[in-house]
Amino acid sequence: MSIALTDSMETLKGIGPKKAELLRRVGIHTIEDLLCYYPRDYEDRRTIKKVADLAEGETALIRGRILMMVNNGYRRRSSLQLLVGDDTGGLPVLFFHMPYLHKTLSKDKLYEFYGKVTRRGDRLEMVHPQWNEVEDENAPPQGILPIYPLTEGLTQKDLRKWMTQMLPYAPLLVDYLPAELRKKENLCGLSYAVENIHFPTDGQRLREARYRLVFDELFMLQAGLFLLRSRTRTTEGSIAFSKNVSLKPFLQSFPFPLTKAQTRVLKEIETDMEAPKAMNRLVQGDVGSGKTAVAAAAIYKAVKSGYQAAFMAPTELLARQHYESLKSQFEAFRIAVAFLSGSSGAKERRQILEALKEGKIDLLIGTHAVIQDTVEFARLGLVITDEQHRFGVAQRARLVEKGQNPDVLVMTATPIPRTLAVILYGDLDISVIDELPPGRKPIETTAVTARGRKKAYHFLHQQVLKGRQAYIVAPLIEDSELVDSRSATGIFKEIEDLLPGVSAALLHGAMKQKEKDEIMERFQRGEIQVLVSTVVIEVGINVPNSTVVLIENTERFGLAQLHQLRGRVGRGAEQSYCILVSEHPSEVSKERVRILTETSDGFLIAEKDLELRGPGEFFGLRQHGLPELKVADLSRHRKVLLSVREAASAVLEQDPTLSSAENLLLKLKLQKNFEERWDPGI
Ligand code: ADP
Ligand code: MG
Repeated sequence: MSIALTDSMETLKGIGPKKAELLRRVGIHTIEDLLCYYPRDYEDRRTIKKVADLAEGETALIRGRILMMVNNGYRRRSSLQLLVGDDTGGLPVLFFHMPYLHKTLSKDKLYEFYGKVTRRGDRLEMVHPQWNEVEDENAPPQGILPIYPLTEGLTQKDLRKWMTQMLPYAPLLVDYLPAELRKKENLCGLSYAVENIHFPTDGQRLREARYRLVFDELFMLQAGLFLLRSRTRTTEGSIAFSKNVSLKPFLQSFPFPLTKAQTRVLKEIETDMEAPKAMNRLVQGDVGSGKTAVAAAAIYKAVKSGYQAAFMAPTELLARQHYESLKSQFEAFRIAVAFLSGSSGAKERRQILEALKEGKIDLLIGTHAVIQDTVEFARLGLVITDEQHRFGVAQRARLVEKGQNPDVLVMTATPIPRTLAVILYGDLDISVIDELPPGRKPIETTAVTARGRKKAYHFLHQQVLKGRQAYIVAPLIEDSELVDSRSATGIFKEIEDLLPGVSAALLHGAMKQKEKDEIMERFQRGEIQVLVSTVVIEVGINVPNSTVVLIENTERFGLAQLHQLRGRVGRGAEQSYCILVSEHPSEVSKERVRILTETSDGFLIAEKDLELRGPGEFFGLRQHGLPELKVADLSRHRKVLLSVREAASAVLEQDPTLSSAENLLLKLKLQKNFEERWDPGI
């Protein structure tokens, strides 16, 4: 039988439609996908330990016979105690909740047990080790075994078996990295890397394999981003906005003076805007630091210089909020503002698009709707995206393409860890608003467990009775049998018991836009005192009278996300509070809570957030519209990243469109990698 890497998994013997479906669920469609499905960890089963040599705390492999077998209890409460012996002694081995195991194991056979050695009293034991039968007493141990990420119904045994079957075909994988680059960076070949990432025979080979694959992943990401940028941006030949447009009259219309930090950042922006170079600036500022005011001033400058501006926000709620406040603020200056979103009516849409094309609208605010093909500007000069991390890199590029090399301002409240910023915004200048408007008191953050929950609600109630407003956030929309966690709907149903006499409303992402808007408006006006919601309130919502945010099942949120949620309060003059409720906190979640209670420094929090995410966990790259990393870890592989950046820019400098013969395979690979997300333009 001849095999091609593009064959579907179902062509293999032993893989029927059911298994194939499970494989698809983890992203494996073809044999190539299988080969590129890397282990998340390994079991070192190279040496068989003698029972007498075992030490507490080590993970070890023993080989022996079952000397004694005692089965206690039944069904879910069952426990099975074994005494496993080799020629040096016996070790107790325990299993729980495996009611049929005693029927599978047999005293006449030889087994291997692999697990952690723990101590109980003065005896060592193994609890829930992995086990397998050994047919031949003299068979060598299995070596280093891969541990794959699984999904329900798929077993390690399955994957190891298929991988063993298919690995001989690894040499069919085409190495897309140019030979010269491979040599210069000391990288092993692709098929060698794939073979050794699955079944390494020693640590050295595993390290070589991993380095190559980490390098690959980061290289593809970086090269792709470089290409995207070179397509959309040329820094020369952009608009020089008028030096004669003074911001003074506009700034005087604010009910407050700008903070020092706002003034400094605005100056940086103004300098960029007046220069004939294209502005490419990221404004980072913690929640509530007043980024919108700075953005508004930049818009004023652009419009008064004779250009149009576009302002894109990630959610309808946020976009609308910006629209409402900017519209009234710009009215006095005769700046025409329009709003466009997915829910704009057909007729309204047509009118807006027409007016925009004729230049009758100065500022277009909206959601993703503003990057649709039908949206045309007469003279787009300034592009602003708010809460940038919600947008794909490609989406920002699309908006930029609607103008002729317009100036770009990217605003983010979630500070991006520097490591990620290096990749994503390597060419962006960064401005930081590192100061909150005066009179803001730091938010008091407390963590409570299930026992403190009642008291927490009582506290929230007291605040509401004082005239303040509050948010209650839960991870789920509705209760679920599968997930042990609270839901917004569930809490809302109990609200009369929890907070008697309080006017509350429910808000979540599955609701109709109109409903959501209505509720937000009523909350803004103070008619609703408590908003029970999911993370839809995460970004940008501004209701200064809210002083409490209570977050349920804190363990289900990431650090940066919790920081964002906390930022919904502390926006007015009153003391604000954030209460983190976690019922079953893991170590990581305890660490997150500890960081939150100790600091409000968004940059530090973002760094920690990246560190605390385990390998294989969601990276945030997806949010940016980039392919996710499988083996590389941005917080651990910073050094590799540096080599990658150099290598990628060297390759592209020599051959900007990757048209030479030696770069052809690389080009094809890049196109394939980024296909669904964006076209790197080569
Ligand atoms: P961000 O977008 O950075 O989270 P906003 O621009 O929404 O922050 O500003 C938060 C609140 O602070 C708004 O109510 C805004 O009017 C107010 N604000 C902004 N700048 C100042 C300032 N310099 N002094 C006082 N209040 C300010
Ligand atoms: Mg904002």
